[in-house]
Amino acid sequence: MALGLPSVRTNGTRTVRELLAGGERSYSFEFTAPRTEKAERALWEAIRQVEAVGPTFVSVTYGAGGRSREGTIRATERIADDTILTPVAHLTAVNHSKAELRNIIGRYADVGIRNMLAVRGDPPGDPMGEWIPHPEGVTYAAELVELIKESGDFCVGVAAFPEMHPRSADWETDIRHFVNKCRAGADYAITQMFFHAEDYLRLRDRVAAAGCDVPIIPEIMPVTSVRQIERFAQLSNAAFPPGLERRILAVRDDPAAVRSVGIDYATELCARLMQEDIPGLHFITLNRSMATLDIYRNLGLDRHT
Ligand code: FAD
Repeated sequence: MALGLPSVRTNGTRTVRELLAGGERSYSFEFTAPRTEKAERALWEAIRQVEAVGPTFVSVTYGAGGRSREGTIRATERIADDTILTPVAHLTAVNHSKAELRNIIGRYADVGIRNMLAVRGDPPGDPMGEWIPHPEGVTYAAELVELIKESGDFCVGVAAFPEMHPRSADWETDIRHFVNKCRAGADYAITQMFFHAEDYLRLRDRVAAAGCDVPIIPEIMPVTSVRQIERFAQLSNAAFPPGLERRILAVRDDPAAVRSVGIDYATELCARLMQEDIPGLHFITLNRSMATLDIYRNLGLDRHT
């Protein structure tokens, strides 16, 4: 525990920082903030399925508005209290004053959460719309990292972008801001989803060349339906691989075959990444954990515990 910081109740679990420093790989799953009771039930079904394979940690995205934000906080608190899983709490700067942010950090600390993911968030409704900071809030993720670190002995992760953040003018600027965010205290990073291992490896080399050795965990999301092709483009700003699109569209009338193509592609991507010195894998589940668990099993990771 760093001197002078408020104490954070710990439940004996190691932080992501401690685990990666020990040379272990981290395998984690991300869920989405539920907005309705039905969505909350689906979320919990998915969480229990993932709990059975003993991942390193799980996280719930921080919602854009009041209801889903409360859903994020409640679900994250319940993961800490009612499961054997280690939760990583997401937090964004959107429409929050610093006082509100400190209050949420305090709620997480009260249930023993030691791991956080600090992302700035996007303007609600239009990810590429004008970013207007809260008058008493923060403007960039680096400031959110500092605020969390000042609030307690937390391990803090940040976002990284294998295809560059869409608001960055060029790679040089993008990497400079990423490295600043790490120097503000980030312990690890998780990438945006991507489709080509080379994009991740190039990002990692650029960061290393800038003198930063913060571990960057690749994020994987399998495409399991035709609808997701569109969703991908909206969520990630990443180019959808034409070859994968063709393979999916060729079997578009057979949902099981579409799912199988998406899972095979993601499995191959993970296997390629695992030949490199990666710190782990982070899977997006969209609260339907079965596809990501299939990949996990294909890779033999269900036997890593
Ligand atoms: P920042 O690091 O603040 O960067 C944003 C932009 O500002 C970049 O272009 C950067 O280069 C630039 N910049 C940074 N510092 C400066 C500076 N000092 N001066 C000028 N420009 C600067 N969103 C949610 O709403 N909820 C979530 O739970 C969530 N989870 C995520 C998890 C992961 C793993 C990832 C990759 C993204 C997640 N996001 C989430 C999306 C994220 O909020 C957006 O991608 C957002 O646009 C960027 O956040 P950031 O933390 O990288 O921002």
